Amino acid sequence: MNLNSPLFDRIRVKREPRQETPAETVRCEHPGCQAIGAYRAPKGRLREGQYFCFCLEHVRDYNSSYNYFNGMKDGDVASYMKDAAVGHRPTWSMGVKRGMGGFREDGPKPGDFSDPLGLYRQRFHSRAQEAREPRYSAVTMRAFAALGLDETAGADAIKAQYKTLVKLHHPDANGGDRSCEEKLREIIHAYKTLRAARLV
Ligand SMILES: [Zn+2]
Repeated sequence: MNLNSPLFDRIRVKREPRQETPAETVRCEHPGCQAIGAYRAPKGRLREGQYFCFCLEHVRDYNSSYNYFNGMKDGDVASYMKDAAVGHRPTWSMGVKRGMGGFREDGPKPGDFSDPLGLYRQRFHSRAQEAREPRYSAVTMRAFAALGLDETAGADAIKAQYKTLVKLHHPDANGGDRSCEEKLREIIHAYKTLRAARLV
């Protein structure tokens, strides 16, 4: 049998590339890509511990769409959360910051990716809490409370409530009862506080 026959060369060329690869070699999972999937990428926050295998080009593609919050600075996350309450007006960059987690281009190491988004989820929540903190000072909040209102009351609601309470607690409306004066003073003081804060 002549192993140098041109016939063998032809057969070799026609072989499927897959057959020349050892079975344990993982292919890039990007559809249609035949490169070696040497880079692992986490599948996402509900599939922790699961990874895609990609070639370098496609792990970069994947990472740039995956790192939704990773590329955002703390302040950006905070303003994102504030905007979330009134509808998003994205002002932050979608750019990917290298070296902030996700994957490593020098290949996976044991212990990498154990909880890549858990870290960011924690940060996300603490920023969300900050965004929910009262917009007004304690003095202003007490003034709202003294009028029986919360901080969402607008100028018209504050005025209307103030008029109602003044009438209700005015000594003239209580048969000249002077004991109402203390409550009336509190209401007037609260109203002046809200006016000083330019809320009325
Ligand atoms: Zn690929």
